[in-house]
Amino acid sequence: MVRRPKVTIKLYSWELDSMPEYSASLPTGQTLWKMWSCNTNAFAVEVRCKCGMVGRAARHLLPAKVHCSKCGKLGLELITLPDHWVVGQYIPDPNPEMIGMRWFDVLLREGPKPRLYEAPDWTEHAALEEGPRAREKQ
Ligand SMILES: [Zn+2]
Repeated sequence: MVRRPKVTIKLYSWELDSMPEYSASLPTGQTLWKMWSCNTNAFAVEVRCKCGMVGRAARHLLPAKVHCSKCGKLGLELITLPDHWVVGQYIPDPNPEMIGMRWFDVLLREGPKPRLYEAPDWTEHAALEEGPRAREKQ
């Protein structure tokens, strides 16, 4: 699955935290405008060898003994990567039988959490979209 964030979304950390997290899969309920968070590094590690080879792998798919793909040596260094959050959203597809998807890069905003913060309904979040749902409200 290719995930290429193209747009930036500005969120406070508590907004990001309030989204349903799908780092290992996609939400099954394909509702238009649904939004979710995804840590693209949730299962990733950086693999380094003394020969200079640097790679990236899914930790749970690595065998117990990992050989370097360049020099063949055993004993590679595995480095846990920092969280990297993106936000996914289901959007209309030109084919009405299908549903589209887009990815946002997350830009964390600074600021105190409002005392009465109420998480929006991320399953039908149209605030960022000029979609049919947004037009209905005008
Ligand atoms: Zn090597």
